[in-house]
Amino acid sequence: MTVRIGVLALQGDVREHRHALEAAGAVTTTVRTAEDLAAVDGIVIPGGESTTMSRLLGVFDLFDPLRDALAAGLPAYGSCAGMILLASEVLDTRPDARCLGAIDMTVRRNAFGRQVDSFETDLAVEGVDGAPVRAVFIRAPWVERVGEGVEVLARVPAGAGPTAGTVVAVRQGVTMATSFHPEVTGDLRIHRRFVDSVRRR
Ligand code: GLN
Repeated sequence: MTVRIGVLALQGDVREHRHALEAAGAVTTTVRTAEDLAAVDGIVIPGGESTTMSRLLGVFDLFDPLRDALAAGLPAYGSCAGMILLASEVLDTRPDARCLGAIDMTVRRNAFGRQVDSFETDLAVEGVDGAPVRAVFIRAPWVERVGEGVEVLARVPAGAGPTAGTVVAVRQGVTMATSFHPEVTGDLRIHRRFVDSVRRR
């Protein structure tokens, strides 16, 4: 069965996500309009700059259609800036930045910046079998609160310094978010997990 995944293509690392999704067995398209959105089985919100994407969602008249589609159950996966956009509450963002409320969680933007801007580590991710996932964090958010019904998929491992234990991957129903960027490592397991969950639906 063909699974058609749209990648929100207003800004950010759209191409890397399309490559990973196609390698994971999906057909991909870009999403810039409400018509594009109506034609996909799931959507990926890429890494980039969440405040810029928030503004562009307004400019492209896509904020309300996307929020409504997510509320109606459109499966979604967001990495980094995408995680921020999927949240129900964002700390340390611009006052005019909006988020989509697809996952009941509070996310702190640029949270690791107080420790170190960018870093890599190996993580165990719930539901991802085999070797740990190489997680690349680039001015990444972390999750400070999850609501009932939100499953924590990964935390920064013990021994990683002051940020150990921090929640960096979550799932609520068919919607997933990671603080890190699996689209840049060539490890397809996170994208495959998302594509498979859309296919099973
Ligand atoms: N710091 C960015 C933001 O606030 C996210 C960075 C990223 O996506 N790599 O949106």
